[in-house]
Amino acid sequence: MELIVARNRDDLAKARGGGDVALVPTMGALHEGHRSLIRLARSRADQVVVSVFVNPLQFGPHEDFSRYPRTFEADLDVCRAEGVDVVFHPSAEDMYHPGRQVSLLSGRMGEIVEGASRPGHFDGVLTVVLKLLNLVQPRVAVFGQKDAQQLALIRRMVADLDVPVEIVGAPTVREPDGLALSSRNRYLSADDRQVALALSRALRAGAAERTPAAVRAAAGEVLAAAGPRLDLDYLVLVDPATFTEVGEEHAGEAVLAVAARIGTTRLIDNVTLTLNPA
Ligand code: AMP
Repeated sequence: MELIVARNRDDLAKARGGGDVALVPTMGALHEGHRSLIRLARSRADQVVVSVFVNPLQFGPHEDFSRYPRTFEADLDVCRAEGVDVVFHPSAEDMYHPGRQVSLLSGRMGEIVEGASRPGHFDGVLTVVLKLLNLVQPRVAVFGQKDAQQLALIRRMVADLDVPVEIVGAPTVREPDGLALSSRNRYLSADDRQVALALSRALRAGAAERTPAAVRAAAGEVLAAAGPRLDLDYLVLVDPATFTEVGEEHAGEAVLAVAARIGTTRLIDNVTLTLNPA
């Protein structure tokens, strides 16, 4: 089947048909991480729709919206190679009606951790994701664990607003040396990249421990050793569903999440671990 490119909601409605769809929302600059989501989507539904939309609503005024990588022709090649059925690539004007008023609020959970560093970010994410779900009407939508707080908030939104879709989380794809794949990695110089490796190294060191204090200490030590070129934003150990910090007595799953700036590039990463196992 030929790949269909839908550039607006009318094209999408025509391409969508009545079938059983899995949606993979992306901002393009597709890499192996996105490919793994597409493959998971493929295994879960008859038709795969990938959206490629750099959503202005989720970028702050001083963030990298204008320099975010846009590689649409290469993205189409990736989608063709992965057997995607439809690529939805609307313009911002097409997505957001002039005079629009109503958008989603992500609540307290959208204001902590990543949300504390990026005010309004998760409101923008939830608003565009709900619009994409309404436009595409998938049975399943696939999101990466790489953006763990985003995934948790999307699950929260679907539960709180009774959105009729199944949310599937996909594991983080990494380079052989541990660096989590990200569209922003292309901005790292060779030296920056070496510094950036401290993120995944810190997460691995933390994941080898069993108590919250030991996890935080082990990960913090690795980050401190990376030196001043790694500008740490946060290192937190949180409940996977609420993103609130876990206490020393917490037993079971937790997410160790980190964000840092290296040069002009801000990277995030996380790992799920088990605390105080029986
Ligand atoms: P983005 O294009 O960065 O907005 O990401 C689109 C989707 O791909 C999101 O659900 C991300 O969590 C997911 N994603 C990004 N990087 C990775 C990765 N390294 N491994 C798995 N999924 C990823």
